[in-house]
Amino acid sequence: MRQANQGEDAYAGAEEGEVMKPYMGYSREGGAQEGAVLIFAHNIKEAKRIGFGALSEWIIDEYTDMAVKLLKNHSFLFEQVAQWSKDKIVKDEPHVVDDPPSCKVCELWGYELNEGGLCEDCREREVE
Ligand SMILES: [Zn+2]
Repeated sequence: MRQANQGEDAYAGAEEGEVMKPYMGYSREGGAQEGAVLIFAHNIKEAKRIGFGALSEWIIDEYTDMAVKLLKNHSFLFEQVAQWSKDKIVKDEPHVVDDPPSCKVCELWGYELNEGGLCEDCREREVE
């Protein structure tokens, strides 16, 4: 299958006027700590569909086990992601980031990182 076809198919999930938002995709049974991906999509349905494509090769067997959560107040993620992801955001192309920028110390993602790559918790610990 051509890569372009897949892209067109994913794009068809957007409704008019919808902007992309960050979602977290993970296994309902295993929980987010088992592993979670960052998904940029226009709506939760689209996020679930493209997220399953990535997680079904990793921690999820059944579509019913696919959990998706909207990451509210996480607009900084649009700035933190790698350049290839930013390029897709500019093109309004939904996609999965399976290695989102994470804190250098605790290795968690979903937190705003400082220039040194540390999350708020680890930053405070460094100061102490
Ligand atoms: Zn941290």
